[in-house]
Amino acid sequence: MADLPFHDKDDFADADRGFIAKLSPAVIQAADGRVIWDNDSYDFLQGECPATAHPSLWRQGQLCARQGLYEVAEGVYQVRGLDLSNMTLVEGERGVLVIDPLISTECAAAALRLYREHRGDRPVTGVVYTHSHADHFGGVRGVTRGGVPILAPEGFMEHAVSENVYAGPAMARRAVYMYGPALPRSPEGQIGCGLGMTTSTGTVSLIPPTTEVTRTGQEETVDGIRMVFQLTPGTEAPAEMNFLFPDRRALCLAENATHNQHNILTLRGAMVRDARAWARYLNEAVTLFADRADVAFASHHWPTWGRAGIVRFLEQQRDMYAYLHDQTLRLLNKGLTGPEIAEALHMPPELEQAWHTHGYYGSVSHNVKAVYQRYLGWFDGNPAHLWEHPPRESAVRYVDCLGGGSAVVAFARRYIDENDLRFAAQLLNHAVFADEGNKEARDLLADVYTRLGHGAENAVWRNFYLMGALELSDGIVPATTDVTSLDLLAALSVEQIFDSLAIRVDGPRAWHERLSIDWYLTDLGERYRTTLSNGALIQQREPADESADLTLRLTKDQLVGLLAGKGVGGVEREGDTGALQRLVAVLDRPAPDFAIVTA
Ligand SMILES: [Zn+2]
Repeated sequence: MADLPFHDKDDFADADRGFIAKLSPAVIQAADGRVIWDNDSYDFLQGECPATAHPSLWRQGQLCARQGLYEVAEGVYQVRGLDLSNMTLVEGERGVLVIDPLISTECAAAALRLYREHRGDRPVTGVVYTHSHADHFGGVRGVTRGGVPILAPEGFMEHAVSENVYAGPAMARRAVYMYGPALPRSPEGQIGCGLGMTTSTGTVSLIPPTTEVTRTGQEETVDGIRMVFQLTPGTEAPAEMNFLFPDRRALCLAENATHNQHNILTLRGAMVRDARAWARYLNEAVTLFADRADVAFASHHWPTWGRAGIVRFLEQQRDMYAYLHDQTLRLLNKGLTGPEIAEALHMPPELEQAWHTHGYYGSVSHNVKAVYQRYLGWFDGNPAHLWEHPPRESAVRYVDCLGGGSAVVAFARRYIDENDLRFAAQLLNHAVFADEGNKEARDLLADVYTRLGHGAENAVWRNFYLMGALELSDGIVPATTDVTSLDLLAALSVEQIFDSLAIRVDGPRAWHERLSIDWYLTDLGERYRTTLSNGALIQQREPADESADLTLRLTKDQLVGLLAGKGVGGVEREGDTGALQRLVAVLDRPAPDFAIVTA
């Protein structure tokens, strides 16, 4: 920690550069009065770093908690600190182009109001979504009702919903640990998530794009504003793009280069990202744009000014992802496993000395394991790990071997005294999984998690540890994420809708059920058949015959309504109507409150 470059204050200068005004108070409410954003609750971060936080993360919290309207370049503005992400505004001939309208419509509307107070009542003449994550499109109905050009990278709509469809409920539950919305905001509690402070909790919307960017070099003009695009699929998101405003000499880096090491695998769970492609696209961005930009900004954190600074920033970010990728593969080809590589791999000194490569959101430790997972998967080749008992069954046996729950707690205390909190957590986790009623073990594990959280440079690790401690003491905090946004449901493809249905079939309950339903989508003119057999719901587009047990004629909206539990009113049915009831009868529900730190 003594090696950290605290003398380097450039980030503070850049984070404050161009400041125009704050939102005061920085509290945003939904129509029903519910507070969905409160940046003032982080004011305590402007004090000295306490013993309950890692100084490097505290510093990052100070930077991320800054809030307000900023001028980035002539005619280019950002509203920062009114959600997890930034909203960027570029002034055109008639109005203003909005890039990435935050997560919630309420936050986006507040950001636009703040901008207009200082720059005049300009109409929104276009929108750009930099990529397919909800913190970059969810607030769109807060800035426009549509009817303007909306640009997005190729594949945007599919990925905007698909990442949250199949494993959505589990991700939402784990996101409670990742972002820590249930934690108190205090020097002992949640101090941000590295990428920003936290996620807002208002209304999520989505208006489909009108223009897809399909190739690097593509140029588009909206409201007189020229843009030159670089497609970067498979980086931080499956559909993402960087772009230059040549007339403003301003470069938008989406979320491909931000002031932290990003996630190769986000801890709430997701598909593993491609660090190799990520590094290549950053290198391409330098080649394409470095000579044509005086400022580079992203949809999180603060901009970087000046050609030399931009190139250094992009090249270091590039080297970071390339190094993580290549060195993990070098070491796995020598036989090291993920956890071993995570201990062995250290970042180069130049990168360690640059604040923006630090793991406030991603980390070397979990990103290395992600690269291993991408290439080799969960199995490390050791047969002892091929058929282990599951966690609770293992825990019962470990505790038995160690002489019972009290003995395990005593052993754990020894490791705590030696400051080996990692092993103390492993031991106590066994004690709790073997016997949830072991209060001594629970309390001590909560203490250990709290200490691990307070020592973490990574904000997300801190939140996971502190949430673990909270749930051990107070019980489970269910996920509250609204996954029923009508805009998002309407954006599902028919194939995704039937996929969603298929993963809700309770297999064993459906073992002996056999049925087929044809769904004729009257507005699309398409027919789909779903067949249930052996507990698997199979979909087929345009079946050759008409032999299904039941045929339903309905619109896609009605299909979405059925999925949302609105019933079959108004749907034309022909054949065995009992088939639909039998299908509904075998559908299961996800659990928004499954146990994580207990068995
Ligand atoms: Zn984002």
